[in-house]
Amino acid sequence: MRIVLLGAPGSGKGTQTDAIIARHGVSTVATGDLLRAEVAAGTELGQRAKPYMDAGELVPFDIVLGMIENGLKTLAVTNPRGFMMDGFPRDLAQAEALDKLLAKINQPLDLVLFFEVDYEEIVKRLLGRGRADDNEETIRNRLRVFEEKTAPLIEYYTRKGLLRTVRGTGTIEDIGARIHAVLDEIA
Ligand code: ADP
Repeated sequence: MRIVLLGAPGSGKGTQTDAIIARHGVSTVATGDLLRAEVAAGTELGQRAKPYMDAGELVPFDIVLGMIENGLKTLAVTNPRGFMMDGFPRDLAQAEALDKLLAKINQPLDLVLFFEVDYEEIVKRLLGRGRADDNEETIRNRLRVFEEKTAPLIEYYTRKGLLRTVRGTGTIEDIGARIHAVLDEIA
């Protein structure tokens, strides 16, 4: 099973990751986690990415693409159950690059899961989370970036017949149950 998790920052993608892994045995690639690890390790890549992350902007395409290529190559050969991407793609250029990469290894996506949550709820959640980039100004900018650059992917994947929407509000268990209902259909 090869899936992409799509949703605004704070829509709960990361929270549901462990349950999806436990149930379906997929591996995960989360670009935000990979980037934060690079920043923490003080690598050159991390140093380049940090100012963008602090401002809530997308980090440049070449940085992210290299990470994804490496991650996918490893996952594609190590886990036959598939993979789940969180935080990628984040704009049309990334989505098209992903399509190309997956076509090359003959492993097209099965599903894109869109987490639907309204912005008011999201701001509340992110302010409560307290990560370094979770201050009000950065949050607002990340939502703006989502609206402008990432939200068009909803239509992109709808047109490809891959999009399924789950309501991302309620208890973690409720949301998990909705997700599993969708994933069990295609598993
Ligand atoms: P959130 O879900 O709160 O947006 P992430 O961990 O997915 O958090 O991302 C944190 C930051 O990392 C983003 O604001 C952005 O700067 C950077 N980032 C993550 N994924 C990508 C990507 N695919 N392309 C560009 N920048 C990215």
